[in-house]
Amino acid sequence: MSFDTIVVVDWSGAQSPSPPKPSKDAIWIGVARNGTVEASYHRTRADATESLAALFETERAAGRRVIAGFDFPFAYPKGFAEAVCGASDPLTLWAALAKRIEDAPDNANNRFEVAAALNDLFPGVGPFWGCPVSFDDPRLPPKGTARHGHGLPERRGCESHLKTTQPCWKLYTTGSVGSQALLGIARLHTLRSRFGTDLAVRPFERHEAPITLVELFPSLIAPTVAALSEENEIKDRAQVRVLAGALAALNPAWLDAMTREGDPVEGWILGLGHEEAIALAAHAAFPAEGTDATTSHMTNSDLLPPRLRDDCFAMPQGVAWVPVDEALAKLRAALYPVTGTERIPTAKAAGRVLAAEVTAQRSNPPMPNSAVDGYGFAHAATGEGVQRLPLLAGRAAAGQPYPHAVPPGHAIRILTGAILPEGVDTVVLEEDTATDGTTVAFDGPIKPRANTRKAGEDVAAGESAIPRGKRLRAPELALASALGIAELPVHRPLRVGVLSTGDEIVATPDDPAAPHQIWDANRPMLLALAQGWHCEPVDLGHVGDDASEIEERLNTGAESADVILTSGGASAGDEDHVSALLRSRGTLSSWRIALKPGRPLALAMWNHVPVFGLPGNPVAALVCALVFARPALSLMSGAGWTTPQGFTVPAAFAKRKKPGRREYLRARLTDEGHAEVFASEGSGRISGLSWADGLVELPDEAADIAPGTPVRYIPYASFGLT
Ligand code: AMP
Ligand code: MG
Repeated sequence: MSFDTIVVVDWSGAQSPSPPKPSKDAIWIGVARNGTVEASYHRTRADATESLAALFETERAAGRRVIAGFDFPFAYPKGFAEAVCGASDPLTLWAALAKRIEDAPDNANNRFEVAAALNDLFPGVGPFWGCPVSFDDPRLPPKGTARHGHGLPERRGCESHLKTTQPCWKLYTTGSVGSQALLGIARLHTLRSRFGTDLAVRPFERHEAPITLVELFPSLIAPTVAALSEENEIKDRAQVRVLAGALAALNPAWLDAMTREGDPVEGWILGLGHEEAIALAAHAAFPAEGTDATTSHMTNSDLLPPRLRDDCFAMPQGVAWVPVDEALAKLRAALYPVTGTERIPTAKAAGRVLAAEVTAQRSNPPMPNSAVDGYGFAHAATGEGVQRLPLLAGRAAAGQPYPHAVPPGHAIRILTGAILPEGVDTVVLEEDTATDGTTVAFDGPIKPRANTRKAGEDVAAGESAIPRGKRLRAPELALASALGIAELPVHRPLRVGVLSTGDEIVATPDDPAAPHQIWDANRPMLLALAQGWHCEPVDLGHVGDDASEIEERLNTGAESADVILTSGGASAGDEDHVSALLRSRGTLSSWRIALKPGRPLALAMWNHVPVFGLPGNPVAALVCALVFARPALSLMSGAGWTTPQGFTVPAAFAKRKKPGRREYLRARLTDEGHAEVFASEGSGRISGLSWADGLVELPDEAADIAPGTPVRYIPYASFGLT
């Protein structure tokens, strides 16, 4: 889902109207739409709310999707909502707060009284604090240090990452976000009531709606805002302008994904953890003078990948081996789609990933039509027994509609796919009739609407036809084309760099190999895998076991690829230069995965690009690539995580397996459909990879397998290896 209009609101908890002349600490609203950004100034909350409601109305009527972000917390630390309204759901709390808050058109309001009354619900003093000296109520202390025993956390989870946020309990003086929240939530509640299910508050509500509300924190990209401010621009204005432009320039799929992050009770600040991506988008939206001919215009760049965090692969280190499922879950949580999007002709979209949901612009079929060759008539004029209907001259055929009405009691020749002429609702199959050219005879009764297709019975106009994230195959191209969709929004292919390491490796069989050398088997294998997974393979070649050579090649890789697969040198031994280098650069996380074949999987970030350090043994390299890289690359491509489909079949082999490690055996099906395994489990046996058509997966636990024991067989095709 993408947004057409981006709204960023800098809210205010002021007690009286802001000055007539645009000034700071007032309400500013930035709107990015159609490649332009505008900022407006509002003297009161009532005025700002009305403007927003009017904007939402206009955009909704025009079928444009709006996302509106506000710079105050949408929720409170855990425990507050339950105490106030008996439910942890923040939106129930919104209603409860809105009921208490009075906020006049001139900004006069009762927030201190409300806060004092809310404090009454908690033991001790607090959690709210801060008020003018004139507000003399022991329940609301003027100083935060006077609070005690109220039992609530000072901050929400998401704020612990952000030291510059003010706590939501503070109601008075600089950055009194507490007042903004109480008064803002009350106003947002009225907008929610007004727009009903057409409005979704993220991350609490998951439904797709024309209007999406999110919490923002402009200081997330403070240095960028400062850098992109105009001369003498009021800070609040610059904040809403730059942030709106940045969010509009961000890849729409990421923005949508960001709205879904966060905690369902305490809420979330949109973009937390993706500051760099947003800052980069801001620079794309407002290029510096002279860098681009279209300097004053925002460019809707979708080329900027959100950056994965450097520590995203961190795994608690210890002696224990990580079970495969735990490693997969960890990997899944760490990764994020990183590819930009583009629009391409439907006919060329096979293998790509859909970047936005496709909705049917027109119904399929567009009009009711005939499912068979036969004769059409009005059902109401027929009955039981032999029916004889006079035939009209002419016929209705696919692409040749019959231009007249068919009177009741008459029939018309009709062919498959022809639009039902006016007056026809039922068709009798040609084989069930007799005709002399002027009359058609058949046995009644015929079911009403027999042999016809309803308009939209396949897909109705406006319905979702293909979901976002779907890998487009031949059937999806058929469906999109049938719906008249000429172009599709798709992700750019994920660029997968492949690098081989090792002093013994000769890069290509074009060159001779001395007896102590072997030809590179992994690189062609991994490049072909990437190709088969619809990624863009980037050949990074081969380097010897030399740290500076590997470093240089990884630098090239990080520029030309979105993810890098290396093979060899990934263990912890003397000659394991890949892991040594990744460790020295500080981001290596060696995962000791309880998997056979396979040794530690080295995962690291290199210049913001994830690196999968696969084992050198081709068998282990392939198994690790299928088990770990496949789902990870799919997720990064925008197609979501994949779990290979396996089948339970009788074993055609015997094996006793110890507990502790999951095992993958090279396997294929016998003519009887039983799984046989390759004679040797040696992980250097490349011939076994080719002999096999899939893998047998043996569980982490001990297993005693005899011929006939059910085992899980996963065909290569289930891993996308074809
Ligand atoms: P390493 O992980 O570097 O210790 O390598 C483990 C084994 O895999 C060694 O026998 C290497 O020679 C072999 N190996 C490493 N890289 C490749 C490659 N690209 N092609 C074929 N074999 C390799
Ligand atoms: Mg090596």
